[in-house]
Amino acid sequence: MKPESQTEQLKREIEEVRRRILQLGDIHPGSVSAQYHACGNPSCRCHDPENPRKHGPYNKLTYVHAGRNRCRFVRDEVAGELAARLENYRTLRRLLDRWTELAIRLGELELFPKRPDTPPEKRG
Ligand SMILES: [Zn+2]
Repeated sequence: MKPESQTEQLKREIEEVRRRILQLGDIHPGSVSAQYHACGNPSCRCHDPENPRKHGPYNKLTYVHAGRNRCRFVRDEVAGELAARLENYRTLRRLLDRWTELAIRLGELELFPKRPDTPPEKRG
């Protein structure tokens, strides 16, 4: 059996990345942070001048999409599902970075091979 060429190895790794992307479940961009806030009732504990105790924590999702910052408050019932989708999104981004890296290396072998004896012809 002949040893795997560099090109074959890269293509096999790319295939593995594609397979893992297809296996990902639902995704969502962004991250969740805990938020506290003061309400509209001036006599509430959250407006106490000595020891204000704000309401919360509330889970707030923030993300950027189409160049715009977005935010959503997260209901407790969906916090677990959202966390799973955020993790899947991070995994997708890592896999895309990996695919891109492998694609560049494959391109250097298939599209831009180094051939010192034949420099690119000058144009014009
Ligand atoms: Zn309040």
